[in-house]
Amino acid sequence: MDDRQLETQWYRVCSRLRTEIGDSAFENWVKPLEFSKFDGSEVNLAVPSRFMRDWILANYLDRLKELWNGENSSVQSVTLSIQPASAVVNKSENQNKQARTVVAPPPEANTKTPSDWHSGGHIAAPLDPKFTFDQFVVGKPNEFAYAAARRVAEALSVPFNPLFLYGGVGLGKTHLMNAIAWEILERDPTRTVMYLSAEKFMYRFVRALREQNTVDFKEQFRSVDVLMIDDVQFIGGRDATQEEFFHTFNALVDQGRQIILSADKSPSDLEGVEDRLKSRLNCGLVADIHATTYELRLAILESKAEKMLMDAPSKVLEFLAHKITANVRELEGALNRVAAHTQLVGRELTLETCQEVLHDLLRANDRRVTIEEIQKRVAEHFNIRIADMHSARRARSVARPRQVAMYLSKQLTSRSLPEIGRKFGGRDHTTVMHAVKKVDELRDIDSSFAEDVELLRRMLEG
Ligand code: ADP
Ligand code: MG
Repeated sequence: MDDRQLETQWYRVCSRLRTEIGDSAFENWVKPLEFSKFDGSEVNLAVPSRFMRDWILANYLDRLKELWNGENSSVQSVTLSIQPASAVVNKSENQNKQARTVVAPPPEANTKTPSDWHSGGHIAAPLDPKFTFDQFVVGKPNEFAYAAARRVAEALSVPFNPLFLYGGVGLGKTHLMNAIAWEILERDPTRTVMYLSAEKFMYRFVRALREQNTVDFKEQFRSVDVLMIDDVQFIGGRDATQEEFFHTFNALVDQGRQIILSADKSPSDLEGVEDRLKSRLNCGLVADIHATTYELRLAILESKAEKMLMDAPSKVLEFLAHKITANVRELEGALNRVAAHTQLVGRELTLETCQEVLHDLLRANDRRVTIEEIQKRVAEHFNIRIADMHSARRARSVARPRQVAMYLSKQLTSRSLPEIGRKFGGRDHTTVMHAVKKVDELRDIDSSFAEDVELLRRMLEG
């Protein structure tokens, strides 16, 4: 068992624990711990103070042991030893580099040690221990990209080259790339995976050009089995570097190395990129990640809430999934804020507290509500087609949601009854009046219906 493997295990233990206990508890208690040594059955961790040691003994030690054992079955116990903070800080710097940058040394580079490899200016970016496949929630918008990523990670030869992942910001591109890296290294720790941002690639490349050192630069890539470059939209427009990128790219493909790229646009839509490079990028597999759907957002929230051991009422999660639609990053941020707040005040989480806590965020997303918006949200909520808001169908399953939408239109907009009627397939104002009365009655006698209406109202109002 070498140090690098142990470091990787430690990061995986940390990432599991983080999702279980939440970011703030993790930052306070677990992050300051450092892996110190392993003697074949006992893992020793360094902890900066006696107080922290006691706290961890009381709260997290059993779980730490279980998780370690899950990663590495020879781990039988976990012990803590107190080390002054300064020593720990130094150690952590070294360790972070080893475990989180290019994880394996290049096999051909027998004249170089791993630290030489890193000392060239840390060309690779750290991998995020949270970004693994099992933390990635799959749904319609991302299932294709996910399947492609898994395929590349599990393949023994190169299935398609390059894999080009694209999609809007915060939709999971970096997460998938990191997941591929972790998976590849888990399956075969001797493979060399290099992950870096396009900006860094360009910056390093330009510097190498200036220092007339491009041979060394290219050498660094030649020994890599898998090269991942994130956010390649930044490559556009810089002709000399594009030219070199093109050659490096071709050379690696010719040598049978796997290349994985991400961008916010498809290869064909990349601005300032030469046609021959575009067509080269199009040669492999292009997989896009679409904007999230309500279902995916809800599934992500449920998964994250569960991992944080957060007892969130489904109404709250549904509310967030409806309101925070921009991207997954924002969704996560909202959930974390709500979780931190509940933990702090120790009160039960309700829709009201959630709205209070996210006040500013929700207001930023707020617009004046239109009847079309109401129809859309209500249709989504009850799982009917928007067209049924206008249709003549009278089945209860569509008539009831339609009445709810009319009711909310009356409540939330300043439209008159005849105007509302017109927007619902040219219905008469008395129909709208009847709907309003009916919904009011039902709210009094059916509390779950009342809650539905209330949820929709909050959602639309912000
Ligand atoms: P991008 O690189 O596309 O801008 P990221 O990969 O950085 O987006 O994702 C933003 C955040 O959302 C990350 O914390 C990531 O873990 C999370 N995320 C995105 N998609 C998913 C998903 N399908 N399941 C779980 N978490 C996700
Ligand atoms: Mg990214």
